[in-house]
Amino acid sequence: MQDLFQGIPEIWVANLKMDIWRYGVFAVAAWLSLWIVLGRLLRHRKVRAETPPPRQLMLEFLFSIRSIAVFSTIGVGMVFLDRLGLYPLSVMAGAWGATWFVVSLLLMIVGQDAYIYWTHRAMHRLRLFRRFHVRHHRSNNPSPFTAYSFDLGEAVVMAGFVALWPLIVPTPWGVIPFFMMHQIFRNTLLHAGYELMPARADGRPAFDWFTTTVHHDLHHGMARWNFAPWFTWWDRWRGTEHPEYHARFAATVGRSAKAELMAPARYDVPG
Ligand SMILES: [Zn+2]
Ligand SMILES: [Zn+2]
Repeated sequence: MQDLFQGIPEIWVANLKMDIWRYGVFAVAAWLSLWIVLGRLLRHRKVRAETPPPRQLMLEFLFSIRSIAVFSTIGVGMVFLDRLGLYPLSVMAGAWGATWFVVSLLLMIVGQDAYIYWTHRAMHRLRLFRRFHVRHHRSNNPSPFTAYSFDLGEAVVMAGFVALWPLIVPTPWGVIPFFMMHQIFRNTLLHAGYELMPARADGRPAFDWFTTTVHHDLHHGMARWNFAPWFTWWDRWRGTEHPEYHARFAATVGRSAKAELMAPARYDVPG
């Protein structure tokens, strides 16, 4: 029993520091480089005409730190499960070599995309929305600090994936830091307020199976569309991609006339 609890407070603090560092570095780097240093240079790539007020950014930062405390607590829960021998697949997969390491990382990213798509759609059902997801949508016009600005319930749902996935898919523990880097990198970009995806000559995104800042910004502006975080395929298969997505992407990157201003937010139940 002693072993089960050994070093738990230190592990919680170490998790907290690591996640704050990751969030802080990416959010601050994106804000500083895109909004401050390169703001003028990239003004033709700005998604919205307006810029969110500093108070919004401050609140997003504070709520993100609270989410990170939830992530650290779930990380401690995983340590308990591991000490109880409930992650045999991860222990096994640690010896499966470099190819499986890469494949399991890709599988985990694709799996998380599906998990977020479906849990996100569920959270847009009106009752769940008020309890789980309203904080994230208080940022109608997001910023790089919106990445982890969640209600407590949403933070648990998000971190829950990291605890559940290695129970069912053999994922070496070494994959988790790379997985976390991917998710904070992409998450920050989705909320960055500037579209960085290169465009093809016809105005479409160069890599159209990846979501873009415009894609997720449309979700914040008009909540009934664009639920997937990393890839566009779920929204396309399920008919939830915003019908004007490509037109608005082309307008944002200067390949067509500026689209009309964003309609005000509507927190509808998806159709
Ligand atoms: Zn968002
Ligand atoms: Zn949402």
